Amino acid sequence: MERRVQSGPRQIPSINELLSRPEVQALLDRWPRAAVVLALRDLTAELRSELQAAAAGGGKESEGGAAALRVLEDGAALSAELVRRLTARNLRRVINATGVVLHTNLGRAPLPREALAALEEVGLYYSNLEYDLEAGGRGSRHAHVEQLLCRLTGAEAALVVNNNAAAVLLCLDTLARGREVIVSRGELVEIGGSFRIPEVMARTGARLVEVGTTNKTYPRDYEEAITGETALLLKVHPSNFRVVGFTREVAREELVEIGHRHGLPVMEDLGSGVLVDLAPFGLPPEPTVQKSVAAGLDLVTFSGDKLLGGPQAGIIVGRADLVSRLARNPLARALRIDKLTLAALEATLRLYLTPELALQRIPTLALLAEPEDKVRARAEELARLLRAGGAEGLAEVEVVADPSEAGGGALPTAHLAGWAVALSPRKERVEEVERRLRAGSPPVVARIQQDRLFLHLRTVRAEELVPLQGAVLRALSLKAEGVG
Ligand SMILES: *Cc1c(COP(=O)(O)O)cnc(C)c1O
Repeated sequence: MERRVQSGPRQIPSINELLSRPEVQALLDRWPRAAVVLALRDLTAELRSELQAAAAGGGKESEGGAAALRVLEDGAALSAELVRRLTARNLRRVINATGVVLHTNLGRAPLPREALAALEEVGLYYSNLEYDLEAGGRGSRHAHVEQLLCRLTGAEAALVVNNNAAAVLLCLDTLARGREVIVSRGELVEIGGSFRIPEVMARTGARLVEVGTTNKTYPRDYEEAITGETALLLKVHPSNFRVVGFTREVAREELVEIGHRHGLPVMEDLGSGVLVDLAPFGLPPEPTVQKSVAAGLDLVTFSGDKLLGGPQAGIIVGRADLVSRLARNPLARALRIDKLTLAALEATLRLYLTPELALQRIPTLALLAEPEDKVRARAEELARLLRAGGAEGLAEVEVVADPSEAGGGALPTAHLAGWAVALSPRKERVEEVERRLRAGSPPVVARIQQDRLFLHLRTVRAEELVPLQGAVLRALSLKAEGVG
């Protein structure tokens, strides 16, 4: 029985007919019938609306519609398309060809393999998450990383929460709820994704007392603002901007001295939080967490997935009495870290016990520290692969020097020496090729600069070159094959 849905110049077979095809029948060995039917419904529904849109627009089939209809006619192609739909996930890997190492929209820090191994073990099986194996009773989830963090940073105590925004919220709520917090006007930052220090503070009921001016804040500005209502002095790392020129900021040691003389705790939100000195790699000097702890800050907060190169987390290190107050705040329960994050964080932190190992094994650090000539060699290799695949008939292919950024609100003024492959499509708009790259598999995120498509190689690893070559060749030649 063949029931065909009349839809424009060509017809879409019924679900039953498609199901009876041998290639589709073969899929029923691996997937439940209901899942295959669902994939067929999605596919035919998309096709139908495509054909209707084309009919409404003058009755001519779109190239995409024609290609999709061919998929329905060709058994092998239909089977491949259904397998793709049956296995596809929404959240998936992309190739980051932007050169931005900590790209917040692309998942920030890629994890070290050691973290993945820990995730697998703790995720697949039960774990001692909150179980003390020695005592045979309830334990603390925070114990797994606290000692490690203390050893790495020199702090007395540590606590980890869901992200750094949560860390700041917890500290302010615990120490300054309903009271005053003094911050320099030069440090009232907004981080991407609308994390604004003044707004976070307002949520906790802490009152913000701004001192100094945008470019200059002196010790006496803090001193004069201290009243009986003051609960905390706060220093914030101006993550994504720099005030340059005529500037004065109060050094950590000075701020600590003022706070302690008045019996007030002093906290620093470091934002990125590095544990190794990046200066040997030509990056601008970043204050390390160890330095802030050594300067006497009572609490220091930082992210797990910025320059640290681990999973999303908020790390708080500092004075033991204050950290235990944070842990007792009911908010700590709402902001608590997940077991998978904890597993990945512990594995990442362990690498820092041997700093040379951290630099090799943590992708964020390895990508940032990679010498320029290695990035250039990958750009040359990609260009060679593209030319070998016939790209030059479709686009001009050039290897160009072009700097990129660290990203993620870290090292805002750092320009990482970079190399890119620049493509100038010969017959099409560069925007169209860029769109197809995003829609492809694997999706590739690249940048348009000066009307050319730039594929930045600092963030593309050696093992991604061949998949990238395939993705670019397909994006350039799709039009030629009539697969819009
Ligand atoms: C990035 C950043 C935050 C937010 O950290 P998340 O881990 O993204 O929540 C807070 N403060 C500063 C200074 C930052 O740079």
